[in-house]
Amino acid sequence: MIAIIGGGICGLALALNLKRRGIACVVYERNREMREIGVGITLLPHAMKELEALGLAEPILTLGSENHDSRFFNRFGQLIYHEPRGRFAGYPHPEVGIHRGRLHSILYRKVREELGPEAVVLGRSCVAIDQDIDGVTLRLTDAAGKYLEPVRAEGVVACDGVNSAVRRQYVRGDAVVFTGINTWRGVTEQKSIFGGRSYLRIGSIRTGKMVIYPISAPDDGSGFQLINWVAEIQREASTANDWNAEGEVADFLPVFSDWVYEWLNVPALIRNSERVLEYPMVDKDPTPQWTFGRVTLAGDAAHPMYPRGSNGAAQAVIDARTLAEQLQLRADPQTAFLAYEGIRRDATARIVLTNRKQPPDFINLRVEDLVGDRPFDDLDAYISQTELRVMSDRYREIAGFSVPGSKLPDAVVSLAASSRSAGAPP
Ligand SMILES: Cc1cc2nc3c(=O)[nH]c(=O)nc-3n(C[C@H](O)[C@H](O)[C@H](O)COP(=O)(O)OP(=O)(O)OC[C@H]3O[C@@H](n4cnc5c(N)ncnc54)[C@H](O)[C@@H]3O)c2cc1C
Repeated sequence: MIAIIGGGICGLALALNLKRRGIACVVYERNREMREIGVGITLLPHAMKELEALGLAEPILTLGSENHDSRFFNRFGQLIYHEPRGRFAGYPHPEVGIHRGRLHSILYRKVREELGPEAVVLGRSCVAIDQDIDGVTLRLTDAAGKYLEPVRAEGVVACDGVNSAVRRQYVRGDAVVFTGINTWRGVTEQKSIFGGRSYLRIGSIRTGKMVIYPISAPDDGSGFQLINWVAEIQREASTANDWNAEGEVADFLPVFSDWVYEWLNVPALIRNSERVLEYPMVDKDPTPQWTFGRVTLAGDAAHPMYPRGSNGAAQAVIDARTLAEQLQLRADPQTAFLAYEGIRRDATARIVLTNRKQPPDFINLRVEDLVGDRPFDDLDAYISQTELRVMSDRYREIAGFSVPGSKLPDAVVSLAASSRSAGAPP
């Protein structure tokens, strides 16, 4: 039996993948009940591909909202650039915004249906792991912190998230790295924006930034839908990185108080959210080892990344499938874990580092560099749409999700570069 520590997105996706390959597993989850917590999460096409293979595309598309396009604005509400997303950009799979709690419930329901209710044991915290030649022994406590009868398993996969207790046991000097960017997040029910299928980025991290996207379909009658928003500001964090920490509107609203456009009232969007959560933007330096004998790391426990490239859940579900494939191919969990690590460690380390160096609002930053922090009359005088498209394509390439067959011809790329050097912006 493979013991999975943590029943989040990665742990539940792993349980489903193992079941499909006939491998027994049990999930041990710290929380006493599965509540719909969190706010919105974006599932990029490569995440949807994995979830579709688990039979989950239909409920996700029903409860979430498929993105048709992505739009970039300066903080004065002027459109800088837009591009199609997901299936509308030629990917074979959609890009979907969904409430993280709903996604979690969809996975949990499916695990109970396919593996039975006993496959996920709630209210069990893993506090330590011992190994011997035949297997592993899990030390677990209940919700009150009381030690329980130890559990034996052939191997352990730690899917216990960014603050992983299992990783702490094996990785020396394990610590989160804070960028100096703090975020506040909420969900507001309101009239849809631009027809309700657009992912919006407004402003930049220098001026204050809003990321806004729908996470439910617009209601046919009222046109209302759930809209997720994230406010990002360069500022010290006042809380540790806890996904459920409550935030205060007064701490960040002043930055956005005059962001009122014909098409959106940002302060109202923020004020009308039922709840506000605060989460500092953190990740961890890539670690050179994930596998420690019969124990391996997966999802955020293995490669926590800044939650701003929409790639955390995608990489977690790819880990889950890769692990299950390797466990199916190799009888010995230690060998399977090492093979999985060989496939996934460097690939995810590149994404963690890209997320640090190349923020997804690079387009807005570039325009701010050229125009300054003021409205523009004619954006083409500073930068062309082709140049912006080249920048966007490059980002997707490094972040590991370029559109199949969409690369701009080299001639267009070099023309975009040379036209700019010939006609410098005013
Ligand atoms: C409550 C919560 C809310 C979130 N909200 C958002 C959001 O709004 N937007 C977003 O983009 N991302 C959010 N995330 C993060 C996102 O789910 C992950 O980045 C990504 O999906 C990778 O999933 P994961 O399974 O590796 O980690 P997670 O989804 O973080 O799951 C880890 C799981 O392990 C459990 N756990 C932790 N320690 C132990 C232990 N010692 N023993 C047993 N179980 C343990 C946790 O309770 C949790 O269920 C949230 C995560 C959590 C836990």
